Amino acid sequence: MAEDCIFCKIISGAFNTEFVYENEYAVVFNDINPKAPIHMLVVPKVHVESLNELEDKKLMGELMQTVKDVTKKIGLKSYKTLINTGKEAGQEVFHLHIHILGK
Ligand code: AMP
Ligand code: ZN
Repeated sequence: MAEDCIFCKIISGAFNTEFVYENEYAVVFNDINPKAPIHMLVVPKVHVESLNELEDKKLMGELMQTVKDVTKKIGLKSYKTLINTGKEAGQEVFHLHIHILGK
């Protein structure tokens, strides 16, 4: 857990955020400022700043599996996934996350 990381705080339960889905590796919650009718974030439980710092290939796979599992759970068959890496690409929260956008 990183002290000043909003997503680490969410994962620790500090804000009682409702998780749409959770497994051993990740939590999934709704984006606070949705840019599509369905906008969820898949967030690894370990603090990794961005995709550039992610070295654990198993975790990479588990995060994509989590995308499949949560979309299946809510019956979302068609969706976009997005990872912003670095400030210039629009990354605002420096705890790796995968956006899921759907209708
Ligand atoms: P990014 O620009 O890829 O770093 O995306 C960060 C996303 O986190 C944005 O879409 C924000 O709306 C979202 N966000 C920031 N704070 C929270 C929060 N407390 N709960 C849920 N989503 C958040
Ligand atoms: Zn964090």
